[in-house]
This record gives sequence, structure tokens and C-alpha cells, in this order.
Amino acid sequence: MITQAGLDAMDRDDPLAPFRDEFVLPDGVIYLDGNSLGALPRATPGRLAAVVEREWGTGLIRSWNDAGWIGLPARLGDEIGRLVGAPEGTVIAADSTSVNLFKLLSAALRLRLGRRVIVSEAGNFPTDLYIAEGLAALLGQGHELRTAAAGEVAGALGPDVAVVMLTHVDYRTGAMHDMAAITAAAHAAGALVLWDLAHSAGAVPVDLLGADADFAVGCGYKFLNGGPGAPAFLYVAGRLQEAARYPITGWLGHADPFAFDPGYRAAPGIGGAVVGTPSVLAMAALEVGVDIALRAPMAEVRAKSLRQAALLMDLVAQHCPGTGVEPVTPGQEDRRGSQVSFRHPEAYAVMQALIAQGVIGDFRTPDLMRFGITPLTLRYADLWDVAVAMGGVLASGAWREARFGVRNRVT
Ligand SMILES: *Cc1c(COP(=O)(O)O)cnc(C)c1O
Repeated sequence: MITQAGLDAMDRDDPLAPFRDEFVLPDGVIYLDGNSLGALPRATPGRLAAVVEREWGTGLIRSWNDAGWIGLPARLGDEIGRLVGAPEGTVIAADSTSVNLFKLLSAALRLRLGRRVIVSEAGNFPTDLYIAEGLAALLGQGHELRTAAAGEVAGALGPDVAVVMLTHVDYRTGAMHDMAAITAAAHAAGALVLWDLAHSAGAVPVDLLGADADFAVGCGYKFLNGGPGAPAFLYVAGRLQEAARYPITGWLGHADPFAFDPGYRAAPGIGGAVVGTPSVLAMAALEVGVDIALRAPMAEVRAKSLRQAALLMDLVAQHCPGTGVEPVTPGQEDRRGSQVSFRHPEAYAVMQALIAQGVIGDFRTPDLMRFGITPLTLRYADLWDVAVAMGGVLASGAWREARFGVRNRVT
């Protein structure tokens, strides 16, 4: 039986507790959606003001050199690389996750000419599937997206498969793939692998180099706390960089942009994956979030995340018996990321009722309530309040209020 006193004791012993003060968290809110939009670091407004007023306002165009703006994609990429087991020179911060998927899927297909299949999971995040479909149609050479059921990718491999594209941690259920095992199986079948780390970077240990991954993309506004629409990142294994060719040949991916050469010549290394001018303000905000993540020891983040997720599942069982709420996140620790999802037929309305009480998670169609576990901000004591709120909403039927059934554009 979990008690409030027991949870308070865990908070007192928590080595990550001081990180909570580095974020702005409104009173009366328990935030469990840092996997969708990370919280605001306290240092971000000041950093943004400095970049705007000093670097832009005073430095003007000199800041491309003097403030290092031009090097931001590579510098921030290297910092993010340390969070995902990627050596220097293999990650850049750029564009959005969707655009980076397009760039790297294209590069993968060009490295496997003659193979025309992209394998993914049917339940992958829609943008990943849409980008693959759109690229296949654009190429007009009979490329196709082949989707397998969750966990059955190995059965979809074959001599026609160019690339396997998977999201490491499932955005709905929180189930996590064995990156090294799937990468090895794909390589054995002659295919490349592209990992989407949207729900992994800053949340779970990732070792791209150790897993021998070929390509990866990831998101800046989720567990990296870079702010709404923050730049994303991409990874290209060092051994592929010389051969890789990218489909968007912009001037900042040129070997010598300021030669203003009329012909394109790709920059060496990962530089060719850069397209155009970086969004400096957005990069500055992302760097604040990444700096915090780099200071938080991943072993401690992971241990707390696993413990909090297990406690939340147990507390919901304790406080919501007989309500039809059912966890769908794997119980096995090495099979889950950093979220807990529960199934309930009225998940949308129940979540809206919880949000009205300040317990902010989100809904994923058709019937999931999703709670992101962000160990840098979430207290153990909060988990008690979440389970009590959920039990109350379900027992009282508060979710039946008409306003909780009205669908918002963003769920
Ligand atoms: C959040 C997320 C994205 C987001 O893509 P954007 O281009 O930033 O909108 C992509 N893939 C996955 C798996 C995600 O979870």
C-alpha cells in the first residue's frame, strides 16, 4: 500500500529534486504533458532577452560571427548528441522533426537504390507515415511504405527493404523498442534504420553509436524543453556521412556558402544536412533546455522515471478500482519509455475533467489518457494527487459535464 508519507519521504531523498526550481510551474497545476510540450526553464526568458537585445539589437549582423550564430546547428547538435550517445559531428539541430524525416528517409533510399520498401509500424506517429508516403509518391519509382503490427517488424524485412523507420518510444502506449536488436536484424537483411527519438531524447538512455544506428531524428520541444516549435535534430552515423546525399540542397549545406558559387557542392561531414538559415531565437531557447538535460545524470533520470511510472500505475489501481481504467504501458522496465497511458472508453472527457482540476495530461485517440513522466519537474507526492483526482472524476461522474465532451483542435 502506497502512502502519502511514503511519497513525501521519496521526495526528500530525491537527488533530482533541485531541478524542479529551474522551471516555471504554475501554482495549482500538476504537469504531466512534458512529453508533448516541455515546461519553461526559468533561464529561458532572460536568455531570449539577451539574444534579442544584445546579440540582435546591438550586435546586428556582426552576431553571425561574434555571437556564434552561424555555428548554432552544429554546436547545439553536438550537445544533443551527448544525450543520445552520438559522437561529435554526427548530430545537427535543424528544421522540424517532419522535415528531418524527409531529409533522412531520402538519404537512406539513395543509399539503397534498387530496394523500394520503407518498413514501419502501423501505429507509428502519423507524420512519420505521411512523410514516407509522400516521399514514395514523389519519387514515382514504385517505392512503398509497408507497415507491420507493433513488435512485428522483423517479419516485414526482406531483400526489397531499403530502410526501417521506427519511433523508439511509442507515442501512444509508451512501449520502447530494443534499438540494438532491431538495428542488427535490419542490417542483417541489408536495410538501413532510421530511429525517431521524439519521446526518447532527454527521457531515456539512448546509445545511437552503441546500437550501430544509421540515422535518427528527434524533437526539441518535448523532453528537451526547447519551447513550442523548437528546432528538431538529426543524426547521421559517421560511417555514412561521405556517401549520404540530402534532397534539400540549400546554401548553408554548401561546402562554402559565402563563395556564392552557382553550383551546389555539399559540405563535408554532416554539414550537408543543414538547409538554410537557423532560427536563432528558437535555437537559443532550445540550448537552455538542452543545458539542463546535460546536467541531469541520465541514470538518475531513468531510475526516477521508472519508479514514478510504476507508482502511478499502482496508485491508479489503488484509487480507481472498478472504474474500467486500465494501463496499456508495459510493466516490464526495459520495455517502456517515460510515460504512462491508461485506456478508458471516455478517455477524452475524463482527461478534460482532470485538466479542469489542474492535472494536465493529454488524450490520444481513440481511448487513451496519456501522462508524461518528467523526473526533473514531477514530485512523487504529485502522483498521489493525480490518482485521487482521477478516482474522484470517475466516481462522481464529473466527466459527464457537457463542456468536457467538446473536442478542442489540439488534444
Ligand atoms: C512529436 C513527434 C513528431 C513531431 O513532428 P513535428 O515535425 O515537430 O511536428 C514527430 N514524430 C514523433 C514520433 C513525435 O512524437
